[in-house]
Amino acid sequence: GNLTPFNNEAMVDFTRADHRAAFPNTIAEVRKQLGKTYPLFINGKEVKTGDTIPSVNPNKPSETVGIVCQAGTKEVGDAIAAAKGAFPAWRDTDIKVRAEYLVKAAAVARRRIFELSAWQVLEIGKQWDQAYADVCEAIDFLEYYAREMITLGSPKRIGHAPGELNHYFYEPKGVAAVISPWNFPLAISMGMVSAAIVAGNCVVFKPSGLTSVIGYHIVELFREVGLPDGVFNYTPGRGSVMGDYLVDSPDISLIAFTGSMEVGLRIIERAAKVYPGQENVKKIVCEMGGKNAIIIDDDADLDEAVPHVLYSAFGFQGQKCSACSRVIVLDAVYDKFVERLVSMAQATLVGPSEDPAHYMGAVADDKAMKTIKEYAEIGKKEGHVLYESKVPSDGGYYVPMTIIGGIKPEHRIAQEEIFGPVLAVMRAKDFDQAIAWANSTKFALTGGVFSRSPEHLAQARKEFRVGNLYLNRNNTGALVGRQPFGGSKMSGVGTKAGGHDYLLHFMDPRVVTENT
Ligand code: NAP
Repeated sequence: GNLTPFNNEAMVDFTRADHRAAFPNTIAEVRKQLGKTYPLFINGKEVKTGDTIPSVNPNKPSETVGIVCQAGTKEVGDAIAAAKGAFPAWRDTDIKVRAEYLVKAAAVARRRIFELSAWQVLEIGKQWDQAYADVCEAIDFLEYYAREMITLGSPKRIGHAPGELNHYFYEPKGVAAVISPWNFPLAISMGMVSAAIVAGNCVVFKPSGLTSVIGYHIVELFREVGLPDGVFNYTPGRGSVMGDYLVDSPDISLIAFTGSMEVGLRIIERAAKVYPGQENVKKIVCEMGGKNAIIIDDDADLDEAVPHVLYSAFGFQGQKCSACSRVIVLDAVYDKFVERLVSMAQATLVGPSEDPAHYMGAVADDKAMKTIKEYAEIGKKEGHVLYESKVPSDGGYYVPMTIIGGIKPEHRIAQEEIFGPVLAVMRAKDFDQAIAWANSTKFALTGGVFSRSPEHLAQARKEFRVGNLYLNRNNTGALVGRQPFGGSKMSGVGTKAGGHDYLLHFMDPRVVTENT
């Protein structure tokens, strides 16, 4: 039937007793299922490999969430071949039918929403609300792209010269490689996968090694709705072992990547090379890192600014590409702002994410823990510690909530993406300097301004050049359809996930002209 207009999935509501109870109950249920072995999924069949890696709970690394079979180059080759084989029929499948699979998968995810959230609490250490928000976003992508594709799907008549009929329409590109990060393990993966699929491409999906069990949930969702074999293939594997092979394959026409700048740029470079048998120039959709700033103007409402900055910087341990990692405070309010930020930080607790008493939990893995701690040490030398929290010493991958003052634009912690709970505080002499500093990194993903001055807000709209700018609110939590997400400069190639033109990157336009 006809689809209702798109609406964002409703967030979890902890004023409801059933929602509050659902988390501990579902986490306990999911815990009973930990430690299973997860196969690959190629051409509609489960494929086991001898090479496996465990995926663990970062808050409690002794707890193995699942054992994940790893794709080597052979399996990746099989998956690409399956996708290539499935492509002609999928390309020619009616767009409404393709969209219907997404809407049905969204319904399954909605039915399983607490369970899918509980897996995220355990596999990557999301807090309850953060986990639920990730699943909501995955549902939003499915519902939104289904509708967008139906809108784009019918050929448009263009030009009205007499005796001529021009039709403008879109066709899918072929086999898409989707490579995703661990930080929005269902949402970002599902966003890229569903866009590729509804546009008519067939997908080889490589989740992050840290969240491959969550990645397997996409297999379950599409299996339950009966997506044809070969349209979606799941090949978790070590990026270092099979990443280049996937990217280099002459049968890949499109690569949708979200992750670090280093890996993103490597993919762009490698994908430029044409191999024997290759028919298409590879198209790259590439979303990368950020070094996002929030400016606190001298007339900012600190009742608003303080909690929003704290949340932007430390929600999910600062492991969001959109997270605030620099707060640029005007001299006149610097001391007052810092005092209030630190006192609010002092009132928070760090500990296992599955207990909602904790504002922050463990970071993704031991590697992330080590790098973030190194950056905190660098920051302590470049500036001075304003706040450093206590952390549990029970073996979880904890990094203290860290706030460092006296940071200048030339400092490393003002320039390099840390991707963890380390916030640099910078003192600017005026609003012009604050804007200049905000723009002074190689990234341009998100930004924020707290100000009561209409002139300064107008100036920021114009001069604070980031993909997603937020005025007088936190700068994380972009919603599908409302804050289409993505940056420019070294943050990305200028695509907007959850925006009306996103699907165009997954297709080639064609025009047919008939002399009538
Ligand atoms: P990452 O280290 O770049 O990994 C991303 C993905 O690339 C993983 O699946 C990884 O696999 C894979 N990979 C590694 N080497 C590869 C290679 N040579 N060829 C192909 N794929 C390869 O990033 P991450 O640590 O997962 O995620 C954090 C980063 O993502 C941060 O920089 C963050 O800012 C960024 N991010 C950006 C956005 C955005 O929308 N702009 C959103 C979220 C996150 P393995 O897991 O096997 O290494």
